[in-house]
Amino acid sequence: MTRGASRLPRRLVLLGHPVAQSLSPAFQNAALVAAGLAVRYEAVDVPPAALPAVLTELRQNDVGGNVTIPHKIAVHASCDLLTPAASDIGAVNTFWCEDGRMTGDNTDVDGFEAAVGALLGLAAGDPWPSHLAVLGAGGAAAAVLVAARRRGVERVDLLVRSIHRAAALADRFPFVRLAPHGTIHPGASLVVNATPIGMRDAELPVAIAALPRDAAVLDLVYRPGETRWVREARAAGHGAADGLEMLIEQGAVAFRRWTGHPPDRAAMRGALAR
Ligand code: NAP
Repeated sequence: MTRGASRLPRRLVLLGHPVAQSLSPAFQNAALVAAGLAVRYEAVDVPPAALPAVLTELRQNDVGGNVTIPHKIAVHASCDLLTPAASDIGAVNTFWCEDGRMTGDNTDVDGFEAAVGALLGLAAGDPWPSHLAVLGAGGAAAAVLVAARRRGVERVDLLVRSIHRAAALADRFPFVRLAPHGTIHPGASLVVNATPIGMRDAELPVAIAALPRDAAVLDLVYRPGETRWVREARAAGHGAADGLEMLIEQGAVAFRRWTGHPPDRAAMRGALAR
């Protein structure tokens, strides 16, 4: 099991650009208050050119936190230590600094596993669907593939618009087959959107009519009132959920890495509901 920080970070930050829209400060601060911890979590907008100087400052001051778009790969490259998950995925979403060294982790795999369990009503140890279809080939898709390997999934069709990043993933995960965007094999029983499509508009990652008849739909994107894809898939009879459960669980695992304690998930959910 991955160990976290040996002492509580002095500050917790979210590094991204932009970050103002993030829900993480609201639910992480609710969990910190519920745990009676004095440290607070704040979003820090870091333009890419400023990242190296910011990372130096974080190392010197025992800061921990999260990383979001567009810095996950750059932070991965600059960490002194990586957990197995961060190393496997090639991206960092959680870090802590101690004695001038930065450790990078990735909690998206745990977050994705929790989201699949909640959507499909799986108990611990229940088998996963054997055939998934996944849209996208970025950091979130890599986390999905690491989870699929852990869970013994036999086949993942990766639906991509450009081949470069997808080919690199297919080389590392032998159960991956590359497929053009928009076509879904009828055998896939879980379809995952790991692209930003639907985040800022009402575009659908895949037409509802193109979904296999009994497939469940998991959109890693989340927005108030859910995404149009989730709403329309559910209306058409598919089990469907957005990325909120994954967001909470990846944040809960990160909280545990920083503090050594599980967070109060009810406090986190309450903050998100508000
Ligand atoms: P990323 O590394 O930038 O990768 C995005 C992928 O989506 C790339 O493969 C990209 O294709 C593809 N893509 C982007 N726009 C597209 C379009 N219009 N049509 C087809 N493909 C498109 O981003 P990421 O970190 O993987 O994140 C992906 C999404 O997952 C984001 O919306 C993020 O917010 C969400 N996410 C949610 C959670 C959660 O907790 N719910 C956690 C992580 C990520 P190219 O390779 O061709 O550029």
